Amino acid sequence: MAKQTIVEAVKAGRILVSDGAWGTFLQKKGMQPGECPELWCVTHRDAVLDIAKGYVAAGSDMIETDSFGGTRCKLEHFGLAARTVELNQAAASISREAAGSDRWVIASVGPTGMMTAMGDVTEADFYAFFKEQVMALEAGGADAICIETMSALDESLAAIRAARENTGCEVICTLTYERTRQGTYRTMMGVAPAEAALATVAAGAHIIGTNCGNGMDRMVDIVKELKQAAPTTPIMVQANAGLPKNVNGVDVFPESPAEMAGLVADLVAAGAVIIGGCCGTTPAHIAALKQAVINLKA
Ligand SMILES: [Zn+2]
Repeated sequence: MAKQTIVEAVKAGRILVSDGAWGTFLQKKGMQPGECPELWCVTHRDAVLDIAKGYVAAGSDMIETDSFGGTRCKLEHFGLAARTVELNQAAASISREAAGSDRWVIASVGPTGMMTAMGDVTEADFYAFFKEQVMALEAGGADAICIETMSALDESLAAIRAARENTGCEVICTLTYERTRQGTYRTMMGVAPAEAALATVAAGAHIIGTNCGNGMDRMVDIVKELKQAAPTTPIMVQANAGLPKNVNGVDVFPESPAEMAGLVADLVAAGAVIIGGCCGTTPAHIAALKQAVINLKA
């Protein structure tokens, strides 16, 4: 386990770098459409370990896990619900092996794909799904739980509570925003950054923020709004490599490592203390972000 907590490190003045995309990396390693990414933690352990090691080598201070879709209800789509605990433990243990003792493992927890508004699920169901997942991730060696790509507040808060009440891990919660025609930011479920900041901190998140949905430039505006609402809570940003362009039916993320790295100073000035990548980012992007963070102090 890392000696300091992530919050202690950022309160001591460090700007930390997280990692980049996992899904696209798994595809490069040969994962086919329709395969369960989390099953790869067991069937292709070396390939998943190689992704984690790739981000460690690029300079990540913390690495995620191949567990984004690891709730029982998501694994059920692949007939793998009975293996929920096994797959999440395996995911955390792989990243633990790559991270060693000097880096943090921040275990990925994504949305369930269900909504209380549709009557598919209750808040108690959300809590039970997340409780099972986060306990398995902690058992596998996670230092923190990274609840990410969230858009509904009730689901986000259930995940935070499940992690706070059933693990000793630090809890990160980041939502995904889109820019409206009025130039404001809202999640798909209509949640504003300030509203999310207040609610996620109140539920017990140690670190808040935003991931996916935007490139670095738009993240600067979102961070300003989060910082104003929750001035003492560390903020994490994992940006896409720009906004996707559809090229022959495939989403291509256009920003180069240098373009992303060029906005690190603005993001830090706005209040972000943990910076990494989401869709379209690679170890090369992370290495460039790391260098930009080092240059901040120069
Ligand atoms: Zn993303």
